[in-house]
Amino acid sequence: METKILIVEDEPGLAKLHRDYLQQSGFVTEWLAEGLEVVSWVKEHSPALILLDLMLPGKDGLEICEEIRTFSDVPIIMITARVEEVDRLLGLELGADDYICKPFSPREVVARVKTVLRRSSPPPQEEQQLLTVDEESYQAILQGEKLDLTAVEFKLLSVLAKKPGRIYSRDQLMDLLYNDQRIICDRTIDSHIKKLRKKIAVTAPKLEVIHSIYGAGYKYEKL
Ligand code: CA
Repeated sequence: METKILIVEDEPGLAKLHRDYLQQSGFVTEWLAEGLEVVSWVKEHSPALILLDLMLPGKDGLEICEEIRTFSDVPIIMITARVEEVDRLLGLELGADDYICKPFSPREVVARVKTVLRRSSPPPQEEQQLLTVDEESYQAILQGEKLDLTAVEFKLLSVLAKKPGRIYSRDQLMDLLYNDQRIICDRTIDSHIKKLRKKIAVTAPKLEVIHSIYGAGYKYEKL
């Protein structure tokens, strides 16, 4: 399984250095240079680890780290320009997993990434690989098996699974699923949900992840 590392660094040269070394070690990388983009990107893509530069345009690493900790335990390695800064950062108890000072050796960064990943206890296998949704290839992998979904079923699953526990009304789902102005009876959603559930049941008969909330709509959640 690929391990995606998010590099947050506003100096392109450094970002490229991180990227090259991490990719050589088999990691998949993404790069963001702008502080304001980071939190929403992390929410959407759930990287395996974040290399977070402290000084960034838009929003600094401290704020970003704090915000990410409100919704995620993703390992964060904070990168600072000064050794003295580390003590201060440790004192702030931001929840970063490690600190690296510039200048650093790229090899050291890779070594730290590996250590932090190893240390951050991975969730149980089942939990981790329950469902993977790839919006580019329109593929959904449930417990290691590809689900054979129509485009609409795929979108439905993808929307619901992106925010586990969040309840979507039929109207919201229709808006998210159909961009055009077709008039669609809201039972359409029910029928797609029904088919989706059946397909999930083929792969994982005991797994119930799509739940109906009476009078409200649907949600995705592993209970
Ligand atoms: Ca910087």
